[in-house]
Amino acid sequence: PRRPLVAGNWKMNGLLASLAEIAAMGGVYDAPLRARLELVVCPPATLIGMAVDIATQASIGLGGQDCHTAPAGAHTGDISAEMLKDIGAAYVIVGHSERRAGHGETDALVQEKAAAALRAGLTPIICVGETRAERDAGDALTVVGAQIAGSLPADAPGSIVVAYEPVWAIGTGLTPTVADVAQMHAFARERVEARLGGGKSASVRILYGGSVKPSNARDLLSVANVDGALVGGASLAAKDFMAIADAY
Ligand code: 13P
Repeated sequence: PRRPLVAGNWKMNGLLASLAEIAAMGGVYDAPLRARLELVVCPPATLIGMAVDIATQASIGLGGQDCHTAPAGAHTGDISAEMLKDIGAAYVIVGHSERRAGHGETDALVQEKAAAALRAGLTPIICVGETRAERDAGDALTVVGAQIAGSLPADAPGSIVVAYEPVWAIGTGLTPTVADVAQMHAFARERVEARLGGGKSASVRILYGGSVKPSNARDLLSVANVDGALVGGASLAAKDFMAIADAY
């Protein structure tokens, strides 16, 4: 029942010329592939508005990479969920590990941002994931369980997306074993259910992220409870991103 979602997180990459990659993705995202999975690109906020026409024509969704908790106000440099919605985004990533680590974002703040996204009519993609030290200490499940409990609004609908991104797998070329991914995703769904209740976890898509490439996508995406991928580096070029999507 869960429609797979392949989402690209461009992070702080992308100039005007990069819009051509979204157009090229659209060229490959044909009717059979659209029937198989949903495709979303999260470019830098500077490009969302300019990507709307291209993306809409290609049935590709757009997302932001972060949002403020407030709808508007004196918050220099920040962007609200309402602004992202207004310009044509349908999704927003919240709680990415690069924001947790680089901007001191806590579970409580991430939860507020997810609530702000829902308030604005956006679907939040809520990121969780353990560090290398936490995994080595045997704490991966505990850490991710706590992040899910702390970062998901308790009243969130089953339409939210959770992304499991082990920090040590991001941009490193390293990935967990298929067995570790299976264990974590089954655990994550159970924790999502504990948080949201009402059977809602059955419709929550739980993405895997961290060094997803065309060469490993089929293995990672065929794991039970993996409902898609959140792709960083390999989402910048249409060729790689669409090869990952084609793994479905
Ligand atoms: P990479 O795919 O570059 O490892 O990044 C993953 C990520 O952080 C997506 O949000």
